[in-house]
Amino acid sequence: MAKCDQGYLCEICGEPVKNIVESSLYLRYVLGEVQLHELFGKPERHLKCDHELAQYIRHEKFEHNPELVAANGNATLTEEQCDRVTQGWIRLREVVHLGIPITEYPLE
Ligand SMILES: [Zn+2]
Repeated sequence: MAKCDQGYLCEICGEPVKNIVESSLYLRYVLGEVQLHELFGKPERHLKCDHELAQYIRHEKFEHNPELVAANGNATLTEEQCDRVTQGWIRLREVVHLGIPITEYPLE
């Protein structure tokens, strides 16, 4: 996505998604929910706009969108889901610096 000057636009807020760390699509890819070939065809979203996924992230570096958190209340999230999605996000932050092929991004 970095090849295009404009980047991909978030389908929710319409702003560019500038970094894979803020991309909901790439997190789903790391989690194994999106296949490689789907990365380039599916609509992009900011993680902070995609509350359905972002609500599971429990990390000091992740800024939740307070409006979405307020609008959705305290959903009952399982520890397992939170762990998995948080691990995926940590992985996403790491691969940016590792310089590894995109095919090696997904968690085991
Ligand atoms: Zn957005």
